[in-house]
Amino acid sequence: MESSLILIKPSAIERFLTGEIISRLQKKGLIITGLKMMQLDEKILREHYAHLVDRPFFPFLLASMMACPVIAVCVKGKNAVEAVRNMVGFTDGSKAAPGTIRGDYCLSNQENIVHASDSPENAAIEIKRFFKEDEIFDYTPGYFRYLYDPEGH
Ligand code: UDP
Ligand code: MG
Repeated sequence: MESSLILIKPSAIERFLTGEIISRLQKKGLIITGLKMMQLDEKILREHYAHLVDRPFFPFLLASMMACPVIAVCVKGKNAVEAVRNMVGFTDGSKAAPGTIRGDYCLSNQENIVHASDSPENAAIEIKRFFKEDEIFDYTPGYFRYLYDPEGH
């Protein structure tokens, strides 16, 4: 089972889209193993968006991500990283396919309502960045046998 990190961004919190986003993750069969509201600061965002710190829009991205608390969600499932990225859609909401979270709920490149890990390696780093070890609950729900075959496929 693979894990992925999702951030419900201020643009989703302010627009009351939290329930919709969590509902979609759950309906897909992803198991929530961590859930936490937190106020991000510049330090954690410079780390999280290290690949973007030199881009001209970075100050706007910082302000956008600190506008209000975010909700960090850790999920697990088969190919969870790729599955979640596919559900989230293209970065720019105006170009994201209908049926994806960004494609259905936003038009912006920056105010694109969610973050999702882009590789299993980055997911492991990001989960550690946003959750303490004892904030992740790696349990197996009772309905697990309705999600996969007996070998986990
Ligand atoms: N972003 C932006 N302008 C851009 C590209 C990215 O404001 O031209 C923001 C946007 O909120 C995006 C985040 O920076 O979600 C991280 O960018 P990345 O390229 O990693 O996209 P993602 O992985 O979120 O699709
Ligand atoms: Mg990214």
